[in-house]
Amino acid sequence: MNKIPKMETHKRLVAYHEAGHVIAHIESHIAFKYVRIRSINGVYTGLIELYPSKSSKSLEYFLIPSYFFKNFPLDFIGYAGYLAESIYKPEINNNHGGYDDLQRIKSCYKDFPTDLKEKYFQFLESYTRNALVKDWYAVSAIAEALIEKETLTLDRALSIAKNAAAMQAGLS
Ligand SMILES: [Zn+2]
Repeated sequence: MNKIPKMETHKRLVAYHEAGHVIAHIESHIAFKYVRIRSINGVYTGLIELYPSKSSKSLEYFLIPSYFFKNFPLDFIGYAGYLAESIYKPEINNNHGGYDDLQRIKSCYKDFPTDLKEKYFQFLESYTRNALVKDWYAVSAIAEALIEKETLTLDRALSIAKNAAAMQAGLS
């Protein structure tokens, strides 16, 4: 039988979701203590434990209205989990845990004009997709390490991402 057990598939999906968040954290210079996946009553959930005060060292500038800037790195981090699942397993569509992240982000903008909102979410989609695809080696390496260890500190995640980037550069 070559079918992967359902539990294993679900664990992998959660690991890729969290790895997407981790890469966005690293790119945004927003630190975290650790990332963890764990099984509670047979269902895997993921979590990134943050520090009480967040620090953002660098922000890039985009052609979007300035009032979006404040939330941007956090939206990017939130959206990256959602999108990493979809890139890892395109056939799941919207039917996955990451959908909660997307709804949470969208709820922050429910009072914004539709055209601005659409523009912003198009931008968020393409920015996040580019970031994840560019660093997909690192996303995969972090996800695989999470599947094996279930908890990674920021330092560990950074060194895995760095090694993966070096490997990717060596192959291209
Ligand atoms: Zn998430």
